Amino acid sequence: MTFPDIETIQGLSSEQVAARLRTFGYNELPEHKKVGIAEIILEVAREPMFLLLVASGLIYFFLGDITEAVMLMSFVLVIIGITIYQERKTERALEALRNLSSPRALVIRDGEQRRIAGREVVPGDILILSEGDRVPADGILLSSNNLTVDESLLTGESVPVRKIPWIEGLKEQAPGGDDQPSIYSGTLVVQGQALAEVRTTGSRTEMGKIGTVLQEVSRDDTRLKREITSMVKIIATCGLLLCLIIVIIYGIGRGDWISGLLAGITLAMAILPEEFPVVLTVFLALGAWRISQEHVLTRQVPAIETLGSATVLCVDKTGTLTLNKMTVQSFFAHDEFCDYDGAGENSVPDYCHELSEYAILACKKDPFDPMEKALVQLSEGNFGKTEHIHKDWKLITEYPLSSELLAMSNVWQSPDGHEFTIAAKGAPEAIGDLCHFSEQEQKKLAEQIDIMASRGLRILGVAKSSFSRSELPSIQHDFIFTFLGLIGFADPVRPGITEAVNECYAAGIRIIMITGDYPRTAQNIANQIGLVNADNYLVGADLDRLSDEELKERLKTATLFARAVPEQKLRIVNALKANHEVVAMTGDGVNDAPALKSADIGIAMGGRGTDVAREASSLVLLDDNFTSIVSAVRLGRRIYDNLKKAMAYIFSIHIPIAGMSLIPVLFDMPLILMPMHIVFLELIIDPTCSIVFEAEKEEQDIMNRLPRSADERLFTPKTLFLSLMQGFVVLGVVLLVYLHSLMSGLGETEVRSMTFITIVLANLLLILTNRSWSETIISTIRTPNKAMGWVFVGTISSLVLILTVPALRDLFRFSQVSAEGIITCILAAGVSVLWFEAWKLWNLRKNQTSQYLQGI
Ligand code: ATP
Repeated sequence: MTFPDIETIQGLSSEQVAARLRTFGYNELPEHKKVGIAEIILEVAREPMFLLLVASGLIYFFLGDITEAVMLMSFVLVIIGITIYQERKTERALEALRNLSSPRALVIRDGEQRRIAGREVVPGDILILSEGDRVPADGILLSSNNLTVDESLLTGESVPVRKIPWIEGLKEQAPGGDDQPSIYSGTLVVQGQALAEVRTTGSRTEMGKIGTVLQEVSRDDTRLKREITSMVKIIATCGLLLCLIIVIIYGIGRGDWISGLLAGITLAMAILPEEFPVVLTVFLALGAWRISQEHVLTRQVPAIETLGSATVLCVDKTGTLTLNKMTVQSFFAHDEFCDYDGAGENSVPDYCHELSEYAILACKKDPFDPMEKALVQLSEGNFGKTEHIHKDWKLITEYPLSSELLAMSNVWQSPDGHEFTIAAKGAPEAIGDLCHFSEQEQKKLAEQIDIMASRGLRILGVAKSSFSRSELPSIQHDFIFTFLGLIGFADPVRPGITEAVNECYAAGIRIIMITGDYPRTAQNIANQIGLVNADNYLVGADLDRLSDEELKERLKTATLFARAVPEQKLRIVNALKANHEVVAMTGDGVNDAPALKSADIGIAMGGRGTDVAREASSLVLLDDNFTSIVSAVRLGRRIYDNLKKAMAYIFSIHIPIAGMSLIPVLFDMPLILMPMHIVFLELIIDPTCSIVFEAEKEEQDIMNRLPRSADERLFTPKTLFLSLMQGFVVLGVVLLVYLHSLMSGLGETEVRSMTFITIVLANLLLILTNRSWSETIISTIRTPNKAMGWVFVGTISSLVLILTVPALRDLFRFSQVSAEGIITCILAAGVSVLWFEAWKLWNLRKNQTSQYLQGI
């Protein structure tokens, strides 16, 4: 189990890497086919809206109305254009996420360790593999320390296999079986560490040969999608039935089947809710992209939906709430405490030298762990040039930290001696245990730990031992250790955490801290960040003694779990879920994976998390920062809100359009809307519902409301009622304008112009009023929405053009409208949304009064 000195390995140079990338290409499998333009066009061509447009274009064509036909066909092109744009934007957002979430690799290049994207690995690269990593390419092991790999992806065999270093002459074999020196791309390191040399990459790997691609960002079906699909089905069926009735009434009543067919097609175009599914896809894909701007990567799109209903956030302490940047702050040795400020060289007092020396000896040579880094720094500042650093000692073996024993030991051999020196460090209780402390001694130790821990310090105990026999024991317990003392590390709380915690509380989200650290330390940090009820903590060992029912009860109030091991997280998640909570849980290690998978929202740490944890999670926190989770929750709520607004708008705007296509036919009155009018309206509705509402800012109270119930539907009876009301009121007003202008003796084209102008203006006002369901148009107008600006400018200028350019006016079967007429349309449109504005004001007043009453 010898490990070559990583520091002496150079790996490939940047030039070699560039050359190999040119020769062998990126380490990736041919991706699933990208959606090409031809495919998008084909997809659009299958859309009912498209078919209806083409059908009406053809009818006009056969009727000899060539300009009308050409116009409709050019709209077809515009619709294809918009769809390609939306599809591209969605694909690009998902593509960027896929690239971000692909596995990473730790390699040695130019003599330095570098974490790179898995796709950049080239043959000849030296890989450092550790527990939880996905192997990025095929290769052979140069050295290994208990390396065990799960190769089930390739072999179907679920039992992990042991690996051994490669020796000259050994043949490479197919995957599977113990004691092989080869490792394969896509397999998972479940235990141990190793150094490996990459032999093949990309499609030349075993995985490439069988063409399996790991599932990354998925476009899964969500509950929302199912809800919307069923809604679309219902509306489409009713709509088509209505169309059929119209065609028949028109055909039989007026004896004009062609016009009847056109009226039917117009109605179908007016009713078909084809925007619903498009809006959902665009919102979720762009939502994932927006969330990634907050350093949170979405691996499973449904998580975006769930984020807004999260009621509990279970978070790790170290690195998530704190910076995970350790500095040595204090020592306890020879029954004396000593503060250390790190100022000046050789400032560690003499009586703490042995303690520091053994703590350093118990570190990895090239440490990654921040506590070990702090110890190495201590060594460089104090013992670099003294006898305390043993550059010529050889590391013989290491006993790793485990959930059962929170301590690790390194076994060293000096060049002259036959004796081994053992340095151990770990949780103070575990070190006390290794030193075979009596109950009395453990109690005394606990008092000393408490003194340091109550300052929020993270504490390590240190012990030493020596061994002269040649065969080392299999467990650390079999050495005879001598206790040397304690070292306290400070790990500052991340900036902005207290504010984020308060934001969560205001949003009705509980926070539970689950940490492997000592209770007092955890409690101090909990108090620093303002965690409520931090006194009511539970330690891992006590948790084990609770029954599931008792745990469920405790979890109604508990906010802090200390000395917990990852395996216990699963029990916590399950108990919380049994309490009907919607749980978001963070984790980074291999053992966190089951809990991450079981949580409603599993959140892996991107910086220090293993590939296994990332794969089990629905979100990945790129900066490991708790505040980013809160930002993601806020965005999740905003996306859901906007989706709701967009859907309500689509619902309401279709009512006047459908109504005005239907009523004139039913009552044998002049027709108002023809296919091109509908297309004109659709050209406003489409970008509005997908792009304008998607970009809408969050409501002010977004983090002051309780989480949405997990099974709340997008269309609650209240939303449905309000959006139907919006639509029917607009329809009523438009009908009044229509009837009034008919009764004033205006001609058909004038009546159509007036009615159409009213519909278009009411449509714009519906957009304005739906931007917020709590604030009035006047207060939202101050919040800019660029996309909305473009839609407004585009709509009004097109309307002016159509009404003033004679050729266009004729095409739309309009005539000039008097200034008085225009003013009537504007007033009518304004009136159509007034009631909703009044309803918002009434709600605002009510809320203010109840807040005031709560305050007194
Ligand atoms: P969190 O779960 O919030 O990240 P944590 O990082 O303290 O908390 P673990 O990493 O599980 O949790 O560590 C638990 C305990 O194990 C630590 O409090 C410490 O006593 C001990 N420990 C952790 N890392 C080391 C190490 N490198 N050497 C020795 N002991 C360690």
